[in-house]
Amino acid sequence: MQKVIQFTYEEFSSRDELNIADAELLKRADEAVTHASPQFSHFNVGTAARLSDGSIYTSSNKENTSIITCAEQNLLLELHSLFREFTIESIAVTFKNMNPGTSSDFPITPCGKCRQLLLEAEDKSGHAMRVIMAGQSGKIYIATGVHSMLPLAYSESFLQH
Ligand SMILES: [Zn+2]
Repeated sequence: MQKVIQFTYEEFSSRDELNIADAELLKRADEAVTHASPQFSHFNVGTAARLSDGSIYTSSNKENTSIITCAEQNLLLELHSLFREFTIESIAVTFKNMNPGTSSDFPITPCGKCRQLLLEAEDKSGHAMRVIMAGQSGKIYIATGVHSMLPLAYSESFLQH
């Protein structure tokens, strides 16, 4: 039996089409891009999450001789250290490639590891997380629910079977 998993997301042609809340969150992610320190890749990534209480937290990617961490991963680590429980309503991710001759005008998407970490945060909160993916300009993607971005995902629930 062949089965099909469909993935639905929204596409916007520019930031001008976003609602005010999403545009604000993306702007905070833009600010976080300026705090990135990827000394090897020179690929600056910023992220901003709006929690269910309306507060916004931001982070960026870091690279040094011993660790390389993604912006989303750093943000989740911070939230886990601050709160026993939290619900991310929306998370925005954007980037600026600092390598000469490159473009930053397309939507960046979370890597596989970050999708897994975001999925676990989504599962724990029991609330579908909106994921806003953007570049410095150009199209923007918005997915509702990390589950849709990671079909047949590994789940902590497997450990209980
Ligand atoms: Zn990642």
